[in-house]
Amino acid sequence: MRTTDKRKNCVPGLLHYEACPTRDFTGDCTGAYKWLITAIYFWRTNFFVKSKQAAKAGTYAAEHSLNKHQVERYSRHLLLNSFGLTAQEKLCSSSVLIVGCGGLGSPAALYLAACGVGTLGLMDHDSVDASNLHRQVIHTEERVGTSKAQSGRKACEALNSLIKIRVHEEALSANIALSIIGQYDMVLDCSDNAPTRYLISDACVVTGKPLVSAAAVGTDGQLTVYNYGEDGPCYRCLFPKPPAPENCSRCSDAGVLGVVPGIMGALQALEAIKIASGKGDVLNKRMLVFDALSGKFMTVKLRSKRAGCAACGEHPTLSMSSLPEFDYKAFTGQEAQDGPPVPLQLIPSSERLLPRDAKTILDQALKDSGAIEPIVLDVRPRIQYQLMHLPHAVNIPIEELENRMPEVKELLSNRSGSSPLLVICRRGNASQLAVQQLRMAGYIDAVDIIGGMTQWSRDVDSSMPIL
Ligand SMILES: [Zn+2]
Repeated sequence: MRTTDKRKNCVPGLLHYEACPTRDFTGDCTGAYKWLITAIYFWRTNFFVKSKQAAKAGTYAAEHSLNKHQVERYSRHLLLNSFGLTAQEKLCSSSVLIVGCGGLGSPAALYLAACGVGTLGLMDHDSVDASNLHRQVIHTEERVGTSKAQSGRKACEALNSLIKIRVHEEALSANIALSIIGQYDMVLDCSDNAPTRYLISDACVVTGKPLVSAAAVGTDGQLTVYNYGEDGPCYRCLFPKPPAPENCSRCSDAGVLGVVPGIMGALQALEAIKIASGKGDVLNKRMLVFDALSGKFMTVKLRSKRAGCAACGEHPTLSMSSLPEFDYKAFTGQEAQDGPPVPLQLIPSSERLLPRDAKTILDQALKDSGAIEPIVLDVRPRIQYQLMHLPHAVNIPIEELENRMPEVKELLSNRSGSSPLLVICRRGNASQLAVQQLRMAGYIDAVDIIGGMTQWSRDVDSSMPIL
């Protein structure tokens, strides 16, 4: 029977009476065999080395590499039978790079920081915008306008000061990808553009790193692990040809329910933890698909490696030397950056109007006719028009413009003065396309507004929200 006295007689330094090596033989931890058995135990468990290490922190001994603070902080992992000490030790010595500190990267970074990943890399070239905050929960109102990577660092450091955090305040490009990814055990792709997705996947194949990839747009999410296991495919194996740019939805255009990337990012953290700790079945050769509105998860089986894959196939063309030269922008036909699209230059600037000049024309039309004429054509999607629009602007989304030319004719028939037909969109790209269509249809005085409603808000009416 265990007593306080027996506890005192246990081998000095052992944390648990039950672990005393003399207990089973002597019953009360005393007697002639005690020191012989103890000596054998010390030798077999390398006790003296571990005791020396432990002595730095205190008087106890333990058979692991975690210090007091780590044991206390991660105790719920350590107590978990299906996870435990060895898994936590592996986690604490692992390193993970998160590319993109946005909707996916926010929860992923927080959970990986919290669970004790040894080194966490945070990469993002962008700054925090107010429109990010509904889903990018690692950032705060106070940090709007500051670097996302630094904002992420502050949040993770505040959560767990025991881990190392490296910040990469730059966009991942082909010439730096291998050197940065090579510093980590694995990568989380939390970006949302095609060039970066291909680059990260290729760099992970070339450097031999697993890639935890997720996406979230609208109310849908998906998740898989690339380049993992014997014949696990890479991103190129599944998508050897990039999708057409017009088929790539971005949150900034298509919208996203904030909690969806939160869920998918947390699942990315889970896969990273499984890879680092060696626990569980990693989600490779399978894709998890999430439908938020129905609350359903579905797992789709994926193909194995593709023999002809340029990255991981039998005769790859991408390598340590060739990858830095690969032109991902040309390959995908898209810019390697998240956020707003690059401004188009389809119409010479001299044939376009700045928002302030357009406002002057509108004011003059009002003065001349006593009422604003129907001379503003808003070609944004209806939902954007409903959120806010210029007074008396008429909404014909650009996708419908060709079929609705008779309506344009009808509107212009009411025009009494010589005011031009002003065309506006969200940022000044679609409006140029619309003007080209209108001019083709014979409306040669059609002119678009540079920077669209976004620039109008900045230059003319700051009370107008920027989408
Ligand atoms: Zn491949």
